[in-house]
Amino acid sequence: MEHPENDSKYKGLQVNSGVKSQPTVNPYLRPRRAPRQMTPAEYVEGIRKCDVSVLGRAVTLVESTNDAHQAIAQEVIEKCLPFTGNSRRIGITGVPGAGKSTSIDAFGLHVLGKGSKLAVLAIDPSSERTKGSILGDKTRMERLSQQKNAFIRPSPSAGSLGGVARKTRETIVLCEAAGYDTIFVETVGVGQSETAVQSMVDFFLLIQLAGTGDELQGIKRGIMEMADGIVINKADGDNIPKAELAAAQFRNALHLFPPTPSKWVPEVLCYSGYYELGIDKVWDMIDRYFDFVKASGYFERKRNEQARYWMLETINEQLKSSFYHQPQVKELLEQKELRVLNNEQSSFTAAKDVLDFYFDTLRK
Ligand code: GDP
Repeated sequence: MEHPENDSKYKGLQVNSGVKSQPTVNPYLRPRRAPRQMTPAEYVEGIRKCDVSVLGRAVTLVESTNDAHQAIAQEVIEKCLPFTGNSRRIGITGVPGAGKSTSIDAFGLHVLGKGSKLAVLAIDPSSERTKGSILGDKTRMERLSQQKNAFIRPSPSAGSLGGVARKTRETIVLCEAAGYDTIFVETVGVGQSETAVQSMVDFFLLIQLAGTGDELQGIKRGIMEMADGIVINKADGDNIPKAELAAAQFRNALHLFPPTPSKWVPEVLCYSGYYELGIDKVWDMIDRYFDFVKASGYFERKRNEQARYWMLETINEQLKSSFYHQPQVKELLEQKELRVLNNEQSSFTAAKDVLDFYFDTLRK
């Protein structure tokens, strides 16, 4: 017998039959219907009313790689364009740990206190780290994220730098149409993203630290050259003299740099994001910068240059992608590559052959 303990003569403990387990999925659960796709006009209307959930959905469309989404996104952007431009776009960078989140929280509250509406965006293509979380993550800017007039959006998740940057630039358009008059674009300050940010902001703020012993090496010289303002964070308590010293060193170093295209002389200031010391001084500097470039006409000029840059950038990207995704071109490239590696053809004639072939296919 399989279970001798169940025999009626058996005196010991008996085995009870088990309890039927419940289904793991609630049988009454109905799949939620995906929200209806809105029309471009509905998006624009929601954005113009600063309906944050519509704005958020529009940004998601901009970030989507789906062609249908992109088509709607582009239409929404075009329709928003007439309502944009009237803002201050400020790039903020610094190495991890420099205090960007703490400072953006403090700067942000300062800006909101003056009656502005603020959008905080980020560019971080490096982004195993981000995957849409760390940079721009709401939990990093605790106080700001609770403010009605602040819109915080993490970096579009990993992709090519150009692609990520383009999405951020398009998001700026949407945010401005929604009435955000101050835009922060944050980068991690270790690589290439800064050049991309430079192509979409009016003012570039570099956050530095004192007392790390490598004030001038910690950040790439190129990034320093781009800065319109360098601010030394954590100038609080015992750290104040060190911060002052670092500021003096930065001022000296800046003398060696060529003049900026705006003719604005970059300033170096100390502040403390955490204790909120000197925030107003930093903001006065930014105010002075905007007065200066608006008076000189550089503000307009730079924005025009940026618009041109993005047009050409987009053309470059589309051309490249059309070229490299053409199946016959791919095949020919592989053959030519072999020939070049075997020294049967020079790189230049091989390139010319492939290009000629591509242009021929276009004519057909
Ligand atoms: P991020 O990586 O650049 O975003 O830097 P965080 O804002 O996360 O700051 C890194 C660390 O520095 C945190 O532990 C902050 O509390 C600290 N920190 C940021 N700003 C200040 C400051 O003004 N003074 C001091 N003493 N610490 C700060």
